[in-house]
Amino acid sequence: MNCPFCRNEESRVIDSRPVDEGTSIRRRRECTKCGSRFSTQETSVLSIIKRSGVAEPFSREKVINGVRKACQNRPVSEDDLALLAQQVEETLRATGQAEIEAQEVGMAILSPLRELDEVAYLRYASVYRNFSSLEDFEGEIALLRAIPSEKTSATKNQVSSPQLK
Ligand SMILES: [Zn+2]
Repeated sequence: MNCPFCRNEESRVIDSRPVDEGTSIRRRRECTKCGSRFSTQETSVLSIIKRSGVAEPFSREKVINGVRKACQNRPVSEDDLALLAQQVEETLRATGQAEIEAQEVGMAILSPLRELDEVAYLRYASVYRNFSSLEDFEGEIALLRAIPSEKTSATKNQVSSPQLK
């Protein structure tokens, strides 16, 4: 990155520290030419590819906004939503892919949302998966009953659970 003062291309890192729970790193730099100091922040890029083909950076805020409506009047706190968004990001980063389709983000939301609140999950799933009839709800509820919530076990692999396909 060029020095913002003299545009010199070289700088020396004088300090590095993780920020945002380790998802970013902030570096304090010193220009080798003019000696000015400046900071850079690096985040490994997680791009979400929308249906239109447009890429945009992953945003926890967008995940939260996407599920907030489904959680209306349910016992779900802002902390719960923040944790859910964090789980979604971890799930997506664990795939090792730098580019992720928007569809997969929706999938990654379903599993932790179900753990959080089954009613909110059903609301979200009905919109996200385009339920068009009572039968769709009945089928989903039957699956919810057939496959007990896995609150106590690892949730890592639930994204690929058969009920989500
Ligand atoms: Zn400089």
